[in-house]
Amino acid sequence: MSGFRADVLTLFPEMFPGSLGLSLAGEALKSGRWSLQAHDIREHGLGKHRAVDDTPAGGGAGMVLRADVLANAIDAVVKPDDQRPRLLMSPRGKPLTQEMVREWASGPGVVIVCGRFEGVDERVIEGRHLQEISIGDYILSGGEPAALVVLDACVRLLPGVMGKVESGEDESFENGLLEYPHYTKPREWEGRDIPEILLSGDHKKIAKWRRAESERITRERRPELLKK
Ligand code: SAH
Repeated sequence: MSGFRADVLTLFPEMFPGSLGLSLAGEALKSGRWSLQAHDIREHGLGKHRAVDDTPAGGGAGMVLRADVLANAIDAVVKPDDQRPRLLMSPRGKPLTQEMVREWASGPGVVIVCGRFEGVDERVIEGRHLQEISIGDYILSGGEPAALVVLDACVRLLPGVMGKVESGEDESFENGLLEYPHYTKPREWEGRDIPEILLSGDHKKIAKWRRAESERITRERRPELLKK
């Protein structure tokens, strides 16, 4: 039991566990290898309508999540001795990497705040020490799919979640390279054969071929990875 605990603050708690309730992540959730609680930010909303947002100071389009409301939602979940990183899903954030995922997966868990509308009041980011994380250079309508991405990536690394231990180690990014191509039966399909070397049984040669293919594909598709 790793005890990885995830708390997600969102205006749409129904989006969780979503895809994480299925397959390996879902089985691990049911068996208690990790836990997930989605908290409705609106419970801390103001007035009869439980307002959570307001118009941007300085004008402009859209609405901004209020600092006071969001801080109350965070404070209800995060106790002073909580060591978990507090993440805010945000297109302005640091790009998510496998290295970050590995670090978080080896810790006590994460607290994730999902933005909506134009984003959140800057003061709550500062005042509650939120770490802004982006899942890529495009704009989602809300942080929820990004939170699912972060959690999916973390949970599959928890001990006992993935069947075979090795299946995590060979993967794209784990060694700074993209993965080599995979093949399985049938041996011939629509006139295309499995590369002969993979059927040779020579494990040294196979490892060498895979390494060369990894390098070729990385050079073609993500040359900047090779420079690191
Ligand atoms: N006005 C903002 C975009 C707001 S999108 C801007 O231009 O930067 C609404 C919410 O969706 C954000 O607050 C964030 O929580 C989430 N979101 C959108 N794109 C994202 C991305 N690429 N990565 C992580 N979260 C994202």
